[in-house]
Amino acid sequence: MALTSEQVGRLLKMIQQTQEVELSCPECLNEMDKYAQSILDSMPIDGVLDRVREHLEACSCCNGQFTLVLETLDAMEEP
Ligand SMILES: [Zn+2]
Repeated sequence: MALTSEQVGRLLKMIQQTQEVELSCPECLNEMDKYAQSILDSMPIDGVLDRVREHLEACSCCNGQFTLVLETLDAMEEP
């Protein structure tokens, strides 16, 4: 059974809305270094980085990874 273009459109919309709310773990890992750098530079957290923050609060797996990234970046910035 083939999907009508209307059904496909609705499906795509659904997927896009889901992505706006929640970040997957690989996506979170992708943006994580940017997020850590923003924190270290006291940059504003917005857009996708705000979703990274939300994901880190909900996902202990990524949170552990993030702690390592933050420590590594922090150590690199030490003179
Ligand atoms: Zn995660």
